Amino acid sequence: MKNTPFQNYLLNLEKAVSVLGLSKEESNILREPENIIEKKIKVELEEEGSKELNAYRVQFNNARGPYKGGIRFHQDADINEVKALAAVMAIKCAVADIPFGGAKGGVQFNPKHMSKRDIEKVSRAFANAFADDIGVDKDIPAPDVYTNSSVMAIMLDEYEKIVNKSEPGVITGKPIELGGSLGRENATAQGGAYVLQEFIDTIHPKKKDLTVAVQGFGNAGSNIAKILHYMGYTIVAVADSKGGVYSSNGIDPEHAVKVKHEKDDLTHMYCEGTVCDLEKLERDGAKIIKNEDVITCECDILIPAALDEQIHKDNAKDVKAKVILELANGPTTPEADEILKEKGITIIPDILANAGGVTASYFEWTQNRNGFYWSEEEVQKKLKPIMIKAFTDIWKMSKEKNIPLRDTAFALGVDRIIQATRHRGRV
Ligand code: GLU
Repeated sequence: MKNTPFQNYLLNLEKAVSVLGLSKEESNILREPENIIEKKIKVELEEEGSKELNAYRVQFNNARGPYKGGIRFHQDADINEVKALAAVMAIKCAVADIPFGGAKGGVQFNPKHMSKRDIEKVSRAFANAFADDIGVDKDIPAPDVYTNSSVMAIMLDEYEKIVNKSEPGVITGKPIELGGSLGRENATAQGGAYVLQEFIDTIHPKKKDLTVAVQGFGNAGSNIAKILHYMGYTIVAVADSKGGVYSSNGIDPEHAVKVKHEKDDLTHMYCEGTVCDLEKLERDGAKIIKNEDVITCECDILIPAALDEQIHKDNAKDVKAKVILELANGPTTPEADEILKEKGITIIPDILANAGGVTASYFEWTQNRNGFYWSEEEVQKKLKPIMIKAFTDIWKMSKEKNIPLRDTAFALGVDRIIQATRHRGRV
């Protein structure tokens, strides 16, 4: 039987526990969340009528600071998944060395074809139900899968009505006009790009003309494609759940973004429905691909930037990339990890690769608390050294201990949380 996401987290935790030689009492701190809050939220939807949705906030650990982590709207966001994601947030914040613990929220429904009004109703209902559980020094939500700055804006509005004061720091990933930070929108991608470039400079300083395939074309996927394109990488594949394009000659990500925006379908770069411009495809050395084809396509660097478990035991053996940069949370299963290790493929793990998002959330929170806002250049200037330091800490420890980057990143994060717990006298 397939492992649950939380079982997968525990497998990674076990490895870190053995690397660090932690006692049972110490490691038990990270085996279960501190708080699991489950609620049914009732909404009166315009299209689907009256609905009761399962909603969760899991507060995993706050030894290093207030709970922090996104809220996802997804039909698979059940308690097990949200628990695993909350745990990973705690480790991620520790890896980035920012003063937060870890949490995650979720509402279990499919928002894909829902109207803006209905999404707003769910967002308001969530903020209402969890207003007592979150707080600027307690638990700070943010966007995650299928939530965005508009959802954060509605949640903030509802929260501020309840507490009857302005409290922008209670939630991050907000629109700029409501106290969002410049540079937050593309920070996940920008952070990943800093880490990738540092990795390349460390192992192949002279390497040029590297090819990149990106799976998922939402915020993280489209932004990393644009950033790496400007940095001189060749983007050879982009796709999302509706499919996409592979082109050995390279794809212009700006054009892909425009097509996605206008047609909501990346294959429209070459096709109208089932009719494709074969001449143009041939001229560009391009072909239409399915989302899952990106994982096994010909490229140097593979970037899963969508959902979890995209690289699994059945396709890992066919991965051709030499490096995987995990912008999504949990895109590689533990079985796939083993297969990729055998093949000598380096994985830059999610808790390092996508930590730019929560790091920029930290900047947003500090700006909200100070009431003084930074320029985009300042945000970049502060993000880069945090990402490079996280990479360097992990790289050095991985070489010293001769273990993969994921195991090292986990060990580093767990170590920092346990040290904070020891200082508190809790173990
Ligand atoms: N959802 C993002 C993540 O998984 C960002 C979390 C945050 O900014 O708090 O890292």
